Amino acid sequence: EPLVSLRGIAKRYATGTLAVRGIDLDIAQGEVLALLGPSGCGKSTLLRMVAGLSEATAGRIDWPSGQPSARDIGFVFQEPTLMPWATALANVALPLELGGMGRREAAERAAAMLARVDLKGFENAYPRALSGGMRMRVSIARALVTRPRLLLMDEPFAALDEITRFRLNNDLLELWEAERFTVVFVTHSVFESVYLARRIAVMAPRPGRIHAELAVEAGYPRG
Ligand code: ADP
Ligand code: ADP
Repeated sequence: EPLVSLRGIAKRYATGTLAVRGIDLDIAQGEVLALLGPSGCGKSTLLRMVAGLSEATAGRIDWPSGQPSARDIGFVFQEPTLMPWATALANVALPLELGGMGRREAAERAAAMLARVDLKGFENAYPRALSGGMRMRVSIARALVTRPRLLLMDEPFAALDEITRFRLNNDLLELWEAERFTVVFVTHSVFESVYLARRIAVMAPRPGRIHAELAVEAGYPRG
């Protein structure tokens, strides 16, 4: 039984653009899925509909194990959207506090999650004092700290230089393998799809549709 199942999904914007159509896709529990395609092919539109941030104009999105609440879905945007007036720790603790957790426990869990993304020692740093890669790590920690049923990432590495990006890829792989998160991420990088995902949905050559689903047989050799 999939975690989420999309059937016949289409989205037409008010401008008339048919951004996606005829999308059938199952997202399995525990899998890492890449949505791969060039700019403008509808990847973000599709991701936002899965997140419930945007309404499909046709089709159905089913969650067989129960409709998700906002806290069941972690969303990471291309640009880190951290609160500039709050420390890294406070940024990550906030979703827990909003969920009713006490300050002390929220802070402990936030610190543990920051350590998981290799930011031990930066708990009290403000976003402006962190590099782009570090801010992205904080955003990812904030998205994961509530242990969402599904993590969605919309070109999370696009703004990072290649080395920062590669380091972050490696750390995320380790985290996902250790904790069995279900992840869907958007990318236009073939390398990143093959390296990070175990399944790739390809939205090319014509925009708006999934033209192929590819299984990545084994992990890319690492180390
Ligand atoms: P990306 O290619 O990184 O997904 P875009 O640059 O296409 O993002 O779009 C950035 C933002 O502008 C998104 O929030 C998207 O919804 C919005 N947008 C993109 N194209 C249009 C459009 N034709 N009309 C209105 N908003 C748009
Ligand atoms: P991708 O993420 O693959 O770059 P998008 O989902 O952002 O693609 O965009 C798919 C198509 O929908 C593009 O033609 C884009 O211009 C259009 N689009 C995206 N967001 C909006 C929006 N908010 N309003 C109108 N058109 C949009």
